[in-house]
Amino acid sequence: MTVKAEGALRRALVEACRQINALGLNQGTSGNISLRCGDMMLISPSGIPYETLQPADVAAMPIFGEYGAWSGPFKPSTEWRFHLDIMRARPEVGAVVHTHAVFCTTLAIARREIPACHYMIAAFGGTNVRCAPYATFGTKELSDHALKALEGRFACLLANHGMIVLGENLQKALWRAVELETIAKQYYYSLLIGGPVLLSEAQIAETAEKFRSYGPQAKDMPAQDLQVKDSRKGRNAGRASRGARQAPRARQAK
Ligand code: 13P
Ligand code: ZN
Repeated sequence: MTVKAEGALRRALVEACRQINALGLNQGTSGNISLRCGDMMLISPSGIPYETLQPADVAAMPIFGEYGAWSGPFKPSTEWRFHLDIMRARPEVGAVVHTHAVFCTTLAIARREIPACHYMIAAFGGTNVRCAPYATFGTKELSDHALKALEGRFACLLANHGMIVLGENLQKALWRAVELETIAKQYYYSLLIGGPVLLSEAQIAETAEKFRSYGPQAKDMPAQDLQVKDSRKGRNAGRASRGARQAPRARQAK
């Protein structure tokens, strides 16, 4: 990674921190963002207001070196453990965004996962977005819970805390942050009017397949975006699992 490339990533990280607050996806100094930068992880420093944050303030941590080692003028986010553990466990991930978005957090306070209430659930890798059990912020216990909830997924909720979204790059992670808060809001409102009618596994698998060719694409460009993996099986959900094909029924919400 060149100095120039690292500088661009640092600027993008600072810009993204400001953006999550401006978009109403976070507030104050809550939340944190990390980016993969070669064999280093760049991560927002702890407790610094985003308006005053500068690219040089961003902390750097070795991904596979000494666990917890860091450099920079300010100590890294208190949540460096889950950021680092995700970077270690998920080589396809280039960006991790954690926020205390209101609707995600409301569901997380109620310890509810987000089910297949809208086809956009497929953007997060499966038929649901799980809610990780509660653990104190900044702990290894929270990181362990988060990693488990993120298995085969690009997002999870954190009980009584907030949410995490992953992206192959920062742009994708921010896109998922917006979509996750949107689906959380939609699900929340549907609960107020009698509860959602959920989509089936087969319907989500079909969506995942269509996502593969969705979006602006130059003629003849191979479909590659939004590859949605079928959670724990590590298979492409676009190719529906046998179970999903055999049981294409819609579940009725309780
Ligand atoms: P930091 O300011 O240490 O990143 O903490 C914010 C937060 O959201 C903790 O969960
Ligand atoms: Zn937090």
